[in-house]
Parts: sequence; structure tokens; C-alpha cells
Amino acid sequence: MEQQLEQSLDELNVSIEHCVNQLRRARQERDEALARMVVLLKQIGAADHCNGCNRPILWVRHRNGVAAPYDSDGTPHFATCPKADQFRRKKETKRA
Ligand SMILES: [Zn+2]
Repeated sequence: MEQQLEQSLDELNVSIEHCVNQLRRARQERDEALARMVVLLKQIGAADHCNGCNRPILWVRHRNGVAAPYDSDGTPHFATCPKADQFRRKKETKRA
């Protein structure tokens, strides 16, 4: 029984190391995916300036036909735009 416990602890140590390696790899893959997305954005995005904050943005049309503005680093512009609330409010008043 004791021997079995030691054995499973050994296995656990190996798997913790394995997990850390997996995590590092996942982070690296995520960074690479983000870098690829930024390259893709520059290729397919339509360069424009935000009407609210006047920062450079890239319009990307998604598969559902909706165009969304992105920052050059791949972040959705609504997440970083200081005037994002103003846009949402504008949209709501337009609908009403
Ligand atoms: Zn903006």
C-alpha cells in the first residue's frame, strides 16, 4: 500500500512537470495565434479611424456579415475605445 502511494506520488510529480510544460506550450501557441491574427487583420481588415476616439482601427467582416472594428493588436476596439459607451447609447437611441 505504501509502495503504491509512493508510486502514485512519483507519477504525480511527473505529471505536474508535464502540466507546466503543456501550459508553457499553450501560452506560446496562444501568442503565436495572436501574432497570426494580427497579420491576418492587416491583410483582410479595412483601415479606418474610429469616429469616437479617432484612433486607427481595422474593420473586419465576420462570417455572419457583421463588420466589427479591431485595434491593430487584434483587440476588439469596443474593448479599448474610451467612447464605446457613447456608441452603444447612440445605437440604442437610433433603434428607439
Ligand atoms: Zn474609438
